[in-house]
Amino acid sequence: MDVNASAEDRQEPQDDALRLCREAFLDRIKAACSFPAGAEAVREGDKIRLMGTFRDDKGKTVTDTLDGPDTEPELLGHVLASRMLSKESDAPREGKVWLVGAGPGDEGLLTLKGAEVLSRADTVVYDALVGDGILALIPQKAERIFAGKRAGHHYLRQEDTNRVLVEKAAEGKNVVRLKGGDPFLFGRGGEELELLSLFGIPYEVVPGITSAFAVPAYNGIPVTHRDFCSSVHIITGHRRADHTYDIDFDALRRTKGTLVFLMGVASLPDICDGLLKAGMDPDTPAAVLERGTTARQHRICGTLATLAGMCAQTTVMTPAIIVVGKVVSLADRFAWAEARPLAGLRVVVTRHRDRDSSLASMLREKGAEVIENPAIETRLLNEDALCEAADELALGVYSKLVFTSPICVRKFLPILFRDHDIRSLASVRIVSVGDLTAKELSLFGLRADWICSEEDGDGISRGNGRTLILRERTASTAEMKEGCDAIEVYETVNVSEGTPDIASQLRAGEIDLAVFTSVSTVKAFAACCHGEDLSRVRAVCIGEQTAKAARETGMNVRMSEKATLASLEKELEKAAGEHR
Ligand code: SAH
Repeated sequence: MDVNASAEDRQEPQDDALRLCREAFLDRIKAACSFPAGAEAVREGDKIRLMGTFRDDKGKTVTDTLDGPDTEPELLGHVLASRMLSKESDAPREGKVWLVGAGPGDEGLLTLKGAEVLSRADTVVYDALVGDGILALIPQKAERIFAGKRAGHHYLRQEDTNRVLVEKAAEGKNVVRLKGGDPFLFGRGGEELELLSLFGIPYEVVPGITSAFAVPAYNGIPVTHRDFCSSVHIITGHRRADHTYDIDFDALRRTKGTLVFLMGVASLPDICDGLLKAGMDPDTPAAVLERGTTARQHRICGTLATLAGMCAQTTVMTPAIIVVGKVVSLADRFAWAEARPLAGLRVVVTRHRDRDSSLASMLREKGAEVIENPAIETRLLNEDALCEAADELALGVYSKLVFTSPICVRKFLPILFRDHDIRSLASVRIVSVGDLTAKELSLFGLRADWICSEEDGDGISRGNGRTLILRERTASTAEMKEGCDAIEVYETVNVSEGTPDIASQLRAGEIDLAVFTSVSTVKAFAACCHGEDLSRVRAVCIGEQTAKAARETGMNVRMSEKATLASLEKELEKAAGEHR
């Protein structure tokens, strides 16, 4: 093959598909490098065999062949070019696609395997039904592609989504296709695999927890129960293009099982009507379950005869499922989700990028939906001074060591342990400002001799001997007491990349509370709000300084009595009570 020939030079029978795939191949090569390249395509039934070649920068001629469907000629050209270029790179890698079920919303319902593959993703293609908490787990460096349908958002058509998966994997990427619930249950997961298999791209399916079971469970409805039924059926309420349903209502009645309808809100009156006409008991319990497993979960319970009328009186929030069957009557007895102390609250926790938040876990445990906002990064300062201080501590220069934040602990102790060990602190009294700092110390095997609040400045320097205070750069600039040295251990900078869109969630009324543990978290949150009116934000703060900073931004502030997690928890429960 003449490697310098372009597709246009050839005299081949008119076949648009052959021309398109050759051109796509050459375009992709040209866009990536200046290798002279050529392509040949032949038709074999409804398949095209594309042979590509180029001469690389070492003068070596590289050739490869790929078969693909004649319906996707451009994709075929791109895939072959990407594959060959990726083999040329320093670290050639075969891409792969994981079709992952993200569950119905609550991020705790993502499977371990799903979380594992997500943590290694280079590209994530996600749907509108994927919960915000799960989106927050996408690695910072990963490319995010929204493939759902959401008013006002650009979105991909199904065919384009299918193509994107093939293209990205051909580039050697780990691609995670995140879909709400289970990817194969009314999720078009099967369609997405079709093209991948045609192009020979490796893939795996990671099943997810489907809304059909999880949403009833979060409403206290077991989908089967020996006393009531012996089967459960999942049906789509979606109408066909000709507006008819593909539902055999007679057959459904005969099953005597629990019926779960997905995508059925718009069809609710028709569904109830169809079941009644088929002879189902009008008193059969039935419910619409809205936005299940999230803080906004809500149910409307009635009977087959009354449910449609009840829903016509209000706006049903989507997504929602419809459940019909005697098991629905158990909801009020077994409903556990709304009984949790912080149920119904969507809380933003602004936190440091490099840390998991124990505060977020506590909030989730109590039933809140947490939006983590990793909008702060810390940078180590004064490393030399800290090394020197470590030596002085080991020499017994200081009798007291004050950690003013958990980050001070995390930044300083590894420096201390470079040249010394834990015995260098044997005769030093350790002071922790706040509970969270003490908790961090415990991770290093250290117990604070004294836990004080940030206002307790006087107490800190009380006693004999010298005191070393480790603090953040922006922290109080109050004058140092006699016998006290202070080192600025780190500074805090705001970052916006990879953070949730706080401003638009605030506008949409989707944020019930914001929790702040330091002045820097207040500042980072305010920066994320891009000038939105912050008087709508209800804030719960630890510590007077934090509360003061929040008040200055105009937020509606309440402060925990003490600088402890327990005290914060109490304050949050009060706020939750008021919210409800
Ligand atoms: N594959 C998904 C279903 C996709 S079809 C799954 O296994 O759950 C989309 C439908 O799922 C919605 O119309 C709605 O009926 C249902 N759904 C998904 N998430 C839901 C949620 N959190 N609460 C209520 N219904 C939900």
